[in-house]
Amino acid sequence: MNAGDAGSPGVLASRGVDNGHIADRLEAFASLLELAEANPFMARAYRRAAETIRDASFPVADVVRSGRARELRGVGPGIEARLRELVETGSIAELTELERELAPDLVGLGRYLGLSAKRSLDIARALDIRTADELREAAAEGRLRSVPGIGPKREAQLLEALAREREPRPRRGLLLNRAWELVGAIAAALDGAPAGDVRRWRDSCELLSVVCAAAEAGAALERFAELPQIVSLIEQDDHRAIGVTVDGVPLEVVVAEPGRFGTALVRATGSPAYVAALEPLPEAPDEAAVYEALGLPWCPPELREQPFRGEPPALLEPGHIRGDLHSHTTWSDGRASVEEMGRAARERGYDYLAICDHTPAVGAVRGLGPDDVRRQGEEIAAANEVLAPFRVLRGIECDILPDGRLDLPDDVLAELDWVQASVHGGQRMARKEMTKRVESALRNPHVRCLSHPKGRYINRRPENALDLVRIFEVALEERIALEVNGLPDRLDLSGEHVREALRAGVRIVCSTDAHSERGLGNMPLSVATARRGWATAADVVNTRPLRSILDRAE
Ligand SMILES: [Zn+2]
Ligand SMILES: [Zn+2]
Repeated sequence: MNAGDAGSPGVLASRGVDNGHIADRLEAFASLLELAEANPFMARAYRRAAETIRDASFPVADVVRSGRARELRGVGPGIEARLRELVETGSIAELTELERELAPDLVGLGRYLGLSAKRSLDIARALDIRTADELREAAAEGRLRSVPGIGPKREAQLLEALAREREPRPRRGLLLNRAWELVGAIAAALDGAPAGDVRRWRDSCELLSVVCAAAEAGAALERFAELPQIVSLIEQDDHRAIGVTVDGVPLEVVVAEPGRFGTALVRATGSPAYVAALEPLPEAPDEAAVYEALGLPWCPPELREQPFRGEPPALLEPGHIRGDLHSHTTWSDGRASVEEMGRAARERGYDYLAICDHTPAVGAVRGLGPDDVRRQGEEIAAANEVLAPFRVLRGIECDILPDGRLDLPDDVLAELDWVQASVHGGQRMARKEMTKRVESALRNPHVRCLSHPKGRYINRRPENALDLVRIFEVALEERIALEVNGLPDRLDLSGEHVREALRAGVRIVCSTDAHSERGLGNMPLSVATARRGWATAADVVNTRPLRSILDRAE
């Protein structure tokens, strides 16, 4: 390096703009867009571009400088302009502005009060405030009622909620993917271990917890209070603190002396009922030593829901999964092509991927009729030429019509390698009708799997009234597998229902229902949910080799 280089702002600024840094900034941008409840597609586009850049094997800054950023997958003109700005100036002005304006702690407090991000920001603008503390102050001074749309009654509600802010209370839980992201980041920042509901992979996480080992708790607790994800501290003593996160959910940090770390981790991981049944816990530096001292085999966290002192089964592992049997492409509502999805699945080490796009009755998005299915078959054959010996399977997610018929004729279904049947519309049907509807679909000889059987959306839509006991009988007779759908807001079947299905002798499929290459990454959610239902590899259809799937010998 010579003095001339050092004097040039362009060179100075771009030094250190490595792929990881660029991806981090784009991801931060995406998060803030989400926080601002901007167009979700825009946030997603930034995330996708960040993913591409993070995985790139060449310095993306060079590509941007040479004006070829648009050649990167997922980079359009808008993202290109921001990349250029980042590489040339070292920052993105709009991102800095959003970070300043959005005040995550204020939005977090707003969420805690039941306000949308947009509403919180409107209030902040009206009161000319920026932080959570300023909002509390303004409320205490009686200034909330000066905000358009807040009458005396609404003000009283908000003041009451603020008064209760420091009492922990049960809240609607976080979806598992978000909870992992949050708890994982906080655990990493504190050098601690994730515990609580996420470590048991509960489908909706209410008790978030991180356990750290340190002789002196003070430093770790101070660092915790300073984390950007923590809005305010509700409680603190000499070895433990509870803070409210930006999502409005309490998170507990426990600092244990190294010799007692294992004990603290067991205590912070299991459900209250599970832990109570093990007490008094011996003191030990790691979990293995705690269980050994108890004279018990180590227990996988997913099984620490109910009291259990026995020998756990050899549970399904992510590495057992040979392929993903539910994914979408741009033929319906997915975001990648057949070949892109196949390639991404191959990169994950799978042997096969079933493309299961929708059929016309799904309504809200494009569905494939018979001609489309056949044309897609040609595209899949072409992809297989390129990707062999990896195999893209011709599949379908076929709607179950209200009368129980399937949304495609039998001769079309007969051509396919893997047929999933799904209820999408008419979920509110009464139990008897719903069960009959699904049962008649499962009697179709081409159907192999029932997708998201209970049709729930976690925290948004209750389960449909399907009689699972009856469905298990039919599934057993017809050799139909039930899906454990890995979308974070579905996780359907749930762990409990998996356990009932397996007890009835029915097999399951662990699928992601991926709508993008990234979506294939949700497999651990499906696998963990199956583990919560005590599934072993033998219970899961897609632990079998390709041949068994094709021959229906699974
Ligand atoms: Zn579906
Ligand atoms: Zn689907």
